[in-house]
Amino acid sequence: MKYQIPRGTYDILPEQSYKWQKIITAFRELAAAYGYEEISTPIFEQAALFERSSGETSDVVKKEMYRFTDQKGREFALRPEGTAPVARAYLENHLDIGSAVRKLYYIGPMFRYDRPQAGRYRQFYQYGIEFIGSNHPFYDAEVISILWWYLKSLGLTKLRLELNSVGCAACAKDYDKALQDFFRPHVDELCPDCKLRLELKPRRLLDCKVKSCKEIAQSAPSQLDYLDESCRDHFASTQKMLELMNVPFTINPRIVRGLDYYTNTAFEVIYEDLGAQNSLAGGGRYNGLLEQIGGKSIPAIGFAGGFERILLALEEGKATLGQEPVPDVFVVALGNPARDLILPYINELRRAGIRTEYDPDKNSFKAQLKAADNRKARFALIVGEDEVAGRRFVLKNLRSKEQQILPWEPFGDIVTFLRT
Ligand code: AMP
Repeated sequence: MKYQIPRGTYDILPEQSYKWQKIITAFRELAAAYGYEEISTPIFEQAALFERSSGETSDVVKKEMYRFTDQKGREFALRPEGTAPVARAYLENHLDIGSAVRKLYYIGPMFRYDRPQAGRYRQFYQYGIEFIGSNHPFYDAEVISILWWYLKSLGLTKLRLELNSVGCAACAKDYDKALQDFFRPHVDELCPDCKLRLELKPRRLLDCKVKSCKEIAQSAPSQLDYLDESCRDHFASTQKMLELMNVPFTINPRIVRGLDYYTNTAFEVIYEDLGAQNSLAGGGRYNGLLEQIGGKSIPAIGFAGGFERILLALEEGKATLGQEPVPDVFVVALGNPARDLILPYINELRRAGIRTEYDPDKNSFKAQLKAADNRKARFALIVGEDEVAGRRFVLKNLRSKEQQILPWEPFGDIVTFLRT
């Protein structure tokens, strides 16, 4: 029996890990600089949490959720997204107490049963921000700017930030009605899903990928013409603050976020040359969510993006994340006295943070040096009989081939040398 990885998933192999570590660390550091703290929630939750928050008719819940019942018949789901779990944790742990606003970020795997393709997986890793506790447009701009500067800091170009406002529940009601009036005469040309959407969630029609629906949607009324005064003001202030923060954006009234709980600001970052799955990240305000899942009415805004698409975009743009780390030093020891002598030093070097490798299975000088070359080590630290007697060692630079003799003591000198 040969086992295979589940379709739509992938292994992150050691050669790739350093890239993941870099982009994850960069996100953590930037989020921290903005005053955000990490929150981690389980990868499964009660299925009802997602049904309640995303809406039972959303694609994520209807078609894409990995559901299961546990041994006691309880209904759970692998989380398809991170916002509802964070909101649940916020309410359950009373994170509103003691602090007017909470600035949270998360990193972790999400699961959606969808047709896999480049940039779309069944298990994928998201980074996300959730800001909870204020409706001030400053925070809309802050959250968006974290995303923008994060992607820029990784060396990505060809980025486009698209911005929209979907208004509050009252604006959305007027807009839904306008959409229904617009689409009804075309009902026979709509796909079966959109026929349903027309009655239940007319705004989702704007997101349909079917060609005929897309064509009709092109001349549909714009959400921006249906904003009430306070939503219009909120949108204008958000834009002004983004300009002051030097974050460039374009307005795209077609952005409808897939989930039910979004209000006001909606945004997406597109990487232009990424094919069909060209959305690097998306987010928006969700002033309705906390109340929807049993809390008080608390305004909030956030975004989520996938690390996989960042890596694809970096590859497409030929941007590098630096080199794969190599050993600083490969220890080559000849003869048993040398082998005994170097053991404590190997540990000392490692404890001092020097990447140190050694291969006890290889005996000859040639075999050990070849191993050092194969590992692309920067230096070989060579100890033979003479070196044991003289309490010194040979340090050979494996790039320039230059070598020098250094004493073992003081040990700090070797560490300083290898660190530079
Ligand atoms: P969403 O939660 O659908 O708004 O998605 C936010 C971001 O998560 C997208 O812009 C992608 O970067 C990423 N993403 C969503 N679904 C997938 C998936 N199936 N595979 C890989 N990345 C995904």
